[in-house]
Amino acid sequence: MEGLVIKSTGSWYTIEGEDKKIYSCRIVGKFRIKDIKTTNPIAVGDRVKFELEPDSENGLITALLPRKNYIIRKSINLSKQAQIIAANLDQAFLIVTLSSPRTSLGFIDRFLVTAEAYSVPTSLIINKVDLHDEEDHEFYLQLKSIYEKIGYPCFEVSALEGINMNLISDLLKDKITLFSGHSGVGKSTLINYLLPNLDIKTGEISDWSNKGQHTTTFANMHPLPQGGYLIDTPGIRELGVIDIEKAELSHFFPEIFKISEGCRFNNCQHFNEPGCAVLKAVEHGEIAISRYESYESIYHGHDTRA
Ligand code: GDP
Ligand code: ZN
Repeated sequence: MEGLVIKSTGSWYTIEGEDKKIYSCRIVGKFRIKDIKTTNPIAVGDRVKFELEPDSENGLITALLPRKNYIIRKSINLSKQAQIIAANLDQAFLIVTLSSPRTSLGFIDRFLVTAEAYSVPTSLIINKVDLHDEEDHEFYLQLKSIYEKIGYPCFEVSALEGINMNLISDLLKDKITLFSGHSGVGKSTLINYLLPNLDIKTGEISDWSNKGQHTTTFANMHPLPQGGYLIDTPGIRELGVIDIEKAELSHFFPEIFKISEGCRFNNCQHFNEPGCAVLKAVEHGEIAISRYESYESIYHGHDTRA
């Protein structure tokens, strides 16, 4: 049989079969993915083949079907191992806020670079619009004009007051969607609104254990009433990218990459090279200064985390 992994605890996997029934399975043999060592071979969102034990709802996973994409995070113990968080994402929603507190553009851009590296289309969900004053609204319009024209749709919502939430519901239909964002932006409130039977505790920070180490966390994959699944990653602040070469960083800034075709030198890094089309575009306002600054700071490894 074939099915979709909707829960993983490390040794047991919950699988929704093609018959829509739920099965518990373990892994037989070893699954290895080329190029990266992973602590877990299979994650939520994976499609697998499995065989049931006779007269049982339990079974064995026998094969992993090809993934369209997957996201990882670097491992807890700084070894070279990585944990696969989820696979086969159709889209990601980055939840941000412009007030209480304002999410930094640096953080947004770092997330978008990661999403580009994983080929996951991303929308920005600006929550807490009920708190926006005129200045916040002005900032929202600026943000929207920067991000929508480079391929990242923006939506203003209030999970608390239900503003524009039907729009979000529609966007989720029949898709596998990753929800991400800083703690405090209202991720739990949003998820509870979309899945009223779930009741995730809000206002809880479970990111670090008291020893200051990451606790092992697994992504939750929730079936949505309208069809599709929502993936929540409690305790995961930022996604990791295995390796982006500096020279390739601009590939993950779509607007910079596009304009760089016009640079005089093939290997232009867009800092001070003569004939750089990117610098010219920044000067003329075709590339947002904040985006260029994010490129520069990620390139130089400056930590702009906020
Ligand atoms: P999480 O850490 O991202 O899961 O955030 P929570 O859902 O726990 O929300 C953090 C705080 O923001 C809570 O006090 C929520 O009540 C509040 N909050 C969430 N959504 C909204 C919203 O749309 N408007 C306002 N004003 N507050 C919100
Ligand atoms: Zn250039």
